[in-house]
Amino acid sequence: MRKIGLRVDADTFTGTRDGTPRLLEMLARHNIKASFFFSVGPDNMGRHLWRLCRPAFLRKMLRSDASSLYGWDILLAGTAWPGRRIASRLGAVLRQTMACGHEIGLHAWDHYAWQTWIEHWPREKIEQQLRLGLDSLQQCLGEKVNCSASPGWRADQRVVAVKESLAMRYHSDCRGFTPFRPVLDHGAGAAAVQIPVSLPTFDEAVGRVVSQDDFNSYIMRAWAECDGTPVYTIHTEVEGVSRAGLFAALLERAWERGFTFCPLGALLPSDLHSLPLGRIEKSLFPGREGWLGLQAGLPV
Ligand SMILES: [Zn+2]
Repeated sequence: MRKIGLRVDADTFTGTRDGTPRLLEMLARHNIKASFFFSVGPDNMGRHLWRLCRPAFLRKMLRSDASSLYGWDILLAGTAWPGRRIASRLGAVLRQTMACGHEIGLHAWDHYAWQTWIEHWPREKIEQQLRLGLDSLQQCLGEKVNCSASPGWRADQRVVAVKESLAMRYHSDCRGFTPFRPVLDHGAGAAAVQIPVSLPTFDEAVGRVVSQDDFNSYIMRAWAECDGTPVYTIHTEVEGVSRAGLFAALLERAWERGFTFCPLGALLPSDLHSLPLGRIEKSLFPGREGWLGLQAGLPV
């Protein structure tokens, strides 16, 4: 029986409001506990989705039929009107997720800004954005938050270093193969554990390597064949809203086939020192626009 770490990213106001409750229901039906990473500040994601008017991104928009994948509400967020603050208006949804027994982590203060500007931000700005997000999320939940996940897997060694000040149990900032301890630059030792996402997402695969109709079979095969530690990411906007039926069918089939799911934190061994060391390096990635952080070994 294969255990898969299930990560749910909530990127937008609408996805959080509509997709989260629906996913909570679907997961409860199968008694599944997952990790939810919430964006908590202003939702400017519409800008992100329109900004990338480059051929590769347009191809992706067409391939995945972005307006049907996300809906117009999401595509226009933060473009024609100021982005709505997520945690201050949807706190009840976040608290409900915690009450259902899921692990809660910080995704972002402003998902759009992080994804777009992180490369150019000085250390202080990265720290300020993390602090804004964490304060807002902890205030909303009334509890300490112990994990985080960078938007769009946009993270590098600099982000690893800045996140040390958060003193969290783990982060899920990159793509890769298996949990590891990133080594800080300048001989400063190992940082908090990273749990990389090792499996493709719906929008990375559909239209590129598989059709939507065959996606569920494709992803179950990927779960079974994953060489490393299987970690799968879904989005409240997609699996909780526009592709909720498809995801419900996937959960049924996964249950029949004996796959089980757990929050990411449950994948960690009791002795974290047994995990390999590594680094996060910037890399291009199949099915994604621009760079993201990828797990890498240590230079020899
Ligand atoms: Zn995200």
